[in-house]
Amino acid sequence: MAQTVRGMRDIFGPEIAAWHRAEEVFRTISQAFGYEEFRTPMLEHTELFQRGIGQETDIVGKEMYTFVDRSGDSLSLRPEMTAPIVRAAIEHSLVRHTPVTRLWYNAALFRHERPQKGRYRQFHQYGAECLGSPWPEADAEVILLAYDVIKAIGLTQFRLEINTLGSSESRAVYRAALVDYLNAHRAEMSGDAQRRIDTNPLRVLDSKVEQDKAVIANAPRLRDHLDEASTAHFNAVLALLDAAGVPYTINPVMVRGLDYYCHTVFEFVTDALGTQNAIGGGGRYDPLFSMLGGGDTPAVGFSLGIERLLLLSEVEAGGWGEAARPDLYIVTMGDTARVPAGLIAMRLRRVGRTVVTDVLRRSVKSQMKDANRVRAQWVAVIGDEELQKGTVSLKHMDSGDQIEVPHTEIETALASRE
Ligand code: AMP
Repeated sequence: MAQTVRGMRDIFGPEIAAWHRAEEVFRTISQAFGYEEFRTPMLEHTELFQRGIGQETDIVGKEMYTFVDRSGDSLSLRPEMTAPIVRAAIEHSLVRHTPVTRLWYNAALFRHERPQKGRYRQFHQYGAECLGSPWPEADAEVILLAYDVIKAIGLTQFRLEINTLGSSESRAVYRAALVDYLNAHRAEMSGDAQRRIDTNPLRVLDSKVEQDKAVIANAPRLRDHLDEASTAHFNAVLALLDAAGVPYTINPVMVRGLDYYCHTVFEFVTDALGTQNAIGGGGRYDPLFSMLGGGDTPAVGFSLGIERLLLLSEVEAGGWGEAARPDLYIVTMGDTARVPAGLIAMRLRRVGRTVVTDVLRRSVKSQMKDANRVRAQWVAVIGDEELQKGTVSLKHMDSGDQIEVPHTEIETALASRE
């Protein structure tokens, strides 16, 4: 009973401070790029994901938490955010009202995968979607946003890999050529790869199995099937990244599984997290709006795994980093000091100070111990003597300096050491 569901985790203690810092980065940098936060429900109609991601993908075919609710509707916990965002954009006619709609999210997602470090059944993604523009500037914009967020979190051990799938038309031509080639080599390939030839042939290129790699090495190349406009689009994206000084490597076999991707696809990868080497990724998904019954709306976006971002920052920094310190801990001596101490605490909290008081009626000694435990920057002691004088004695914990100040001047004293 008293245990989390397998693959799901509680987030608390030193880790929560890292979440707060990351969430602050998501908010400020998304805003700096002109993106607005968007929140959707955890549950969607199952059909949204079946149509938007595809029944043949692992995510929908094997990993979704799907159930029939009390009204008989088939609902699913969202396994990703792009389909819900596009659903919402269609439902609220967002793109009709704002030709370029820029949205970001920070959302809990659910996939019934085999849990391991860095892979959970409830996990979280930060991501952004730029809806309405077919131009390479939009592709570059979302990549720059993702890149700035990763940098602002403090990460260095990652790289950006990028590729193009070309227009939907040139991709279809390529897909046909690839299927012909793979069918000719079917017998040499793993069972998984053989199945994918029929369901999602581009995914075969992602295979990490040695026997598949040998076949893939000689497979027709996507770049030989690109039309001129597709090449121009990709080159423009790369030029924008060059101009912004964002380093990348072109990975010609990266396809990012999902069927709706076209043109630019990209991934942020790291070598510092073992097998869970993907921090996040994204790409252009022009066909998705019409797949979900919206008009023809070009779009591009990305998502980053928050647990992976934080694991990597923990690895790089050698720990979770420090939790925020309270400004003040008020130690009370005797019964009469409790009410005035509480009032001082409330006054300071209302001007933005973090103030902790004792609620266990502890001895002065154990209150001091507690102040040390929470790493308060200042300790105020209030007893009968101070009450009579209308003062508190303040101790600056790092330096050991002590001063006695009137109640009204505590705030000035706290501010003097910042
Ligand atoms: P995807 O939506 O599959 O492209 O995943 C985007 C990112 O989300 C990945 O690169 C990971 O950082 C993260 N991610 C995906 N699945 C999980 C999971 N089960 N647990 C933790 N993070 C995940």
